[in-house]
Amino acid sequence: MVGQSHGRHGGIASLTTIPTPDNVALYTRGWMAHIPPVSAKRHIFGSRNPMKKPILRLTVIALVAMTTSACLHGGGAPGVEPDSPKRLDYAIAIHGGARAVSPNASEEFQETYREALAEALAVGRDLLEGGASALDAVEATVAHMEDNPLFNAGRGGVFSNVGLVELDASIMDGATLDAGAVASALTPKNPIKAARKVMTDTRHVMLSGIGADEFIGNSGLEQVAQDYFHTERRRNAWQRALEREQSSLTTDQPDVDWGTVGAVALDRQGNLAAATSTGGLTNKMHGRIGDSPIIGAGTYANNATCAVSCTGQGELFIRNAVAHRISARMEYTNDSLQDAMTDVFTRTLPEGSGGAIAVDRYGTIVMDFNTPGMSRGAADSTGRFGVFLWGDGEE
Ligand code: ASP
Repeated sequence: MVGQSHGRHGGIASLTTIPTPDNVALYTRGWMAHIPPVSAKRHIFGSRNPMKKPILRLTVIALVAMTTSACLHGGGAPGVEPDSPKRLDYAIAIHGGARAVSPNASEEFQETYREALAEALAVGRDLLEGGASALDAVEATVAHMEDNPLFNAGRGGVFSNVGLVELDASIMDGATLDAGAVASALTPKNPIKAARKVMTDTRHVMLSGIGADEFIGNSGLEQVAQDYFHTERRRNAWQRALEREQSSLTTDQPDVDWGTVGAVALDRQGNLAAATSTGGLTNKMHGRIGDSPIIGAGTYANNATCAVSCTGQGELFIRNAVAHRISARMEYTNDSLQDAMTDVFTRTLPEGSGGAIAVDRYGTIVMDFNTPGMSRGAADSTGRFGVFLWGDGEE
């Protein structure tokens, strides 16, 4: 059921100077201490039911105003009118999943997660700083996260109900609307690279199951046996899910089982790209495909509007075509990115369904969710760099 929710909004722009791979830990450990005060903006939305307090936290990194000159880069982003706000040189946002970290997780685990986010964010930021395309940056960033067993993507993917790790991923180029995806793949070490190959080397957008794995084998991408993906943490989560199912106590997903990864970026050429990768939901039915590999649901990019990557209960994101809906609102109703995201996470999706990260053609980043937390990070060409697990200023 799609319900209405009226939530609490907050904005924050709280990033540090540029970290390097060597000092990245410094920037994530107790980082609030060395971040200058920020112009956090919080709106309280009215609720028709004061007893029900939906959670909605919104992080907006409004980096547009007068910080960068687009003419440094030989013209604005495609589709940017001459009198539009100036755009940033580049911007990138990542997520490591809504509900990826339980509110009850130890400080140590939370810190580990922040460090992993910061490492991944630095990968994409460095590429964009060096002039790489948004497409290359989101692919490399997501591939980096797929290699880290902490995240529910690639190596750390969750188990399906038959004990397999079945991987979904997609990527989209906002300049051309080219897109590629793999679904229910069992063998790619990096599903996001397979998605990119589908985009570049086939006439299709998505390959699934056996066909996807055959293609991956033929395309020369690295393939691994299922053992590679079978981590103890995910196996235990699957066992717990099976036990819950058998005892019929609850069908709820445990808090820590999500953890899909995604990245969105604007590059120096003004191009946008988005990428998303996941193992899906723990104990999902064999063959189930979520929103992450579906263009328009979990991933979307269009230079005329924005790039979006989603995380959450995939079926809801598919039914509401969430990633495309955000872009479409900007295109059809002239909504700002922030307004388009607010519409989705307050009026379209029920509370607790998930979140999304997005960047528009000017480099404005919005990271919005209606779950207790969403692991995420953002960086841009002004040197701002930050990672977050919860709401505004909670880190
Ligand atoms: N959206 C993913 C799926 O439904 C799960 C997640 O974001 O963690 O497959």
